[in-house]
Amino acid sequence: MSVFDTVRENIPARKAFEHYGIRVNRNGMCSCPFHCDKHPSMKVDVRYYCFGCGEKGDAVDFVSKHFGLGLRDAAVKICEDFGLPCQSPGNMTYHPKAIPKALDDKLFQKTERYCFIVLSDYLHLLKRWKTEYAPVDETSKWHPYFVEALKEIDHVEYLLDTILYGNISDRAFLIADYGRKVILIERRLNELRSKN
Ligand SMILES: [Zn+2]
Repeated sequence: MSVFDTVRENIPARKAFEHYGIRVNRNGMCSCPFHCDKHPSMKVDVRYYCFGCGEKGDAVDFVSKHFGLGLRDAAVKICEDFGLPCQSPGNMTYHPKAIPKALDDKLFQKTERYCFIVLSDYLHLLKRWKTEYAPVDETSKWHPYFVEALKEIDHVEYLLDTILYGNISDRAFLIADYGRKVILIERRLNELRSKN
């Protein structure tokens, strides 16, 4: 197992953030360490994503940027700091990434496709809301749909990008993290459709 796999399987970004002194609140939000951020605009879970500056990644990306280390050194540092076994960088051999078991499974592929379809629908709707419900002038109150669009578009785009272009473990983590949320989004989309 490579040092990257060891980190990926054991240390979600959130654990690394907290270990290295960044406070994450109960909603999994924190002030972004990569831009001047007064109000928490970074979401941290297995991975992190900043709604302010767009920084994103996993525990290794975070430690690499935070301490100015290369990715491999960052992964080794995490293993050392968390007492995880890691091979010395000198005798690293390449092993093809272990495919999470769930991915072998037809059910996973089905779930992934389902998440993609629901999130695409949601993104489409959010983009429509962003223009349809935009405030008419500076004094008008912001419509909740407009606020939701501003808040969610980047995040949903990021999730869709991960499904499309992410490596196999990122996708497995995403489905595990957001599968339940996607079901709620679908339920809501159906309700909205039935109202119209
Ligand atoms: Zn940021």
